[in-house]
Amino acid sequence: MSGTVIVGAGHAGVQAAVSLRQAGYQEPVRLVSEEDRPPYHRPPLSKSMLAGEKQPEQIALRGPDFLERNDIELLSGVRAVALDPASRTLRLKNGNLAYDKAVIATGAGARTLAGFQYDNVFLLRNMQDALALKNALAPGAKLVIVGGGFIGLEVAATARKLGLSVDVIEAQERLLKRAAPPLLSDYIHRRHAAEGVRLHVGAQIERVIAEAGRIVSVELSNSKTLAADLVLVGIGNQPEIGLGAEAGAKTDLGGLLVDPALRTALPDVYAIGDCAAFYLPAAGCRVRLESVQNAVDQGKAVAGQIAGQVDGAYDAVPWFWSDQFDMRLQMTGLSRPGSAFMIRGDVESNSFSLLETLDDRLVAVYSVNTAADHMASRRLVGQPSRFNKAAASDASVPLKACLAVPTGRCSG
Ligand code: FAD
Ligand code: NAP
Repeated sequence: MSGTVIVGAGHAGVQAAVSLRQAGYQEPVRLVSEEDRPPYHRPPLSKSMLAGEKQPEQIALRGPDFLERNDIELLSGVRAVALDPASRTLRLKNGNLAYDKAVIATGAGARTLAGFQYDNVFLLRNMQDALALKNALAPGAKLVIVGGGFIGLEVAATARKLGLSVDVIEAQERLLKRAAPPLLSDYIHRRHAAEGVRLHVGAQIERVIAEAGRIVSVELSNSKTLAADLVLVGIGNQPEIGLGAEAGAKTDLGGLLVDPALRTALPDVYAIGDCAAFYLPAAGCRVRLESVQNAVDQGKAVAGQIAGQVDGAYDAVPWFWSDQFDMRLQMTGLSRPGSAFMIRGDVESNSFSLLETLDDRLVAVYSVNTAADHMASRRLVGQPSRFNKAAASDASVPLKACLAVPTGRCSG
């Protein structure tokens, strides 16, 4: 038996390997990783590790001992270059691996800006990127960040803590437009501005002024000029889909299209995590999600499919978090067109939730320093019962008690 080969040892791939063993899978499990280091948690790369509060070895995902004990073979520093579904072979840079089942968990790479080949320009996707950026974050230096998404804002917060001067350039008219409703974007904008981050929304770089291979300033579309000692580009991801796409798998939303059992169109080839596009019943549409929760839950689900223990569709409620300054942002569910928003708690107290409802159903919750609301939201979002908005508007009523019973009373 050739067993299962998993390409990519990030959150999704490692979870799939671990869950296969937990499910009692007896065949060989091989994890192929192009990164030349043991698997690690990615979120601290823009937060605690970048700030120097944690060392790289403190953010290990699963150490070599754990993998060995569980009979998971990690081939690190090895890039998979092609997949041949006919012969069930994965071609590596330095040889071939036969498989019975293959899981593509190759994540995504950071998008870059065309022509940005300068010595002081950084991207942030992996440990190597984070170590290079960390090295360059000298107190007093002028950091220009392109992109007001999660990477840009988390690095802005970390860099301010480290004493850098920070400018963020966001092309959209507000921060985090893809992930946050306007009220939350406005709140985050104000918090960053209060911490001394200079925010340039609705703006783009028009011209770069460079000397000796380094950017020294950038001119924006709004006619401002920003001096720069270093530039971070955080403008989104490019899913790593080459292996599957070149072998003939179908694609959508930039990812490898999978069915409800996370199978691609290729026989016995699955795709999970950032690189997979799938129909999410809870959202009522196809999505491609970029979060630890999605990677981990799909890792568990694919292991269940391969080990023959699960026969249902993948249907987890999406959630994720972000830490910026004193804000712990936690979000559950996905925004829907035509929905309504209500605030629970007091925005000015820096502890509130934004509840999104559609036809009296709770579709998403955006929590700021309200962990109890977030935990409750993971059980409530997507429930078919009506949501009791009147009860939820009183922040002293636990959110978990606000699914309406048939009489319309709060169920708690
Ligand atoms: P990855 O974790 O990207 O793993 C894919 C792995 O596959 C990589 O190691 C890659 O090198 C390897 N690979 C790719 N191609 C090949 C190949 N051909 N051969 C061999 N190996 C290959 N999400 C949250 O929910 N909360 C957060 O706070 C948060 N913070 C983040 C901070 C940063 C700096 C970044 C970059 C991401 C953050 N995310 C966060 C997103 C989250 O980390 C990703 O959604 C998650 O890592 C996706 O897991 P994955 O396993 O699909 O992909
Ligand atoms: P992102 O969240 O998609 O944000 C990038 C932002 O940059 C978008 O608003 C984008 O606008 C804007 N942009 C694009 N081109 C630009 C340009 N030329 N000039 C100025 N702005 C531009 O992506 P990201 O912040 O780079 O994050 C990358 C990945 O890491 C994502 O998967 C993210 O989810 C993940 N991540 C997650 C967390 C978390 O969950 N806490 C933390 C860090 C990273 P458009 O929408 O118009 O392109």
